Amino acid sequence: MAKRAEKGAYPDVDFSCDRCATCCGDVPGHKRNILMLPGEAARISAGAGKDVSEFASRARAGPYKFRMKKTGTGRCIFLGKANLCTIYSGRPLICRAFPFELRTDGSWGVSSACCGVGKGKRVPAKFFRGLEKLASEAFEALSVPDRHGERV
Ligand code: SF4
Ligand code: SF4
Repeated sequence: MAKRAEKGAYPDVDFSCDRCATCCGDVPGHKRNILMLPGEAARISAGAGKDVSEFASRARAGPYKFRMKKTGTGRCIFLGKANLCTIYSGRPLICRAFPFELRTDGSWGVSSACCGVGKGKRVPAKFFRGLEKLASEAFEALSVPDRHGERV
């Protein structure tokens, strides 16, 4: 993974998810791009007992080789009743991180599309460190060089 742009520079923000599921599908004016690494698609395939082609299409977005399919109404096909994710424990990193996004320069972005941002409690640094660890492990497995020639 790329080094963080500034050590310890995590978003200083409150957050509480209200399960609106905005991040699990398309909303007017914005199509949600739910990308997956090959290993994530394989893990979901094994966990859900589905062939990857049943829930994902091919993508060409750097190391992300798969894109989650959606229903005709633009919702992720794994979004279940009461807006609950039916593959919660195996969901992709992009979903785990939302409304935060780890950029390629190591900095963190915060989505303005999430209605839970600004509510609840301050997100602790350990949350971001945990995601960085998961991302590091996932990308290490790919041995993908970043733009500085380091493995990301
Ligand atoms: S958009 Fe934000 S508040 Fe809504 S389900 Fe996603 S993370 Fe939770
Ligand atoms: S995998 Fe789960 S968390 Fe991710 S978009 Fe689909 S329903 Fe939402």
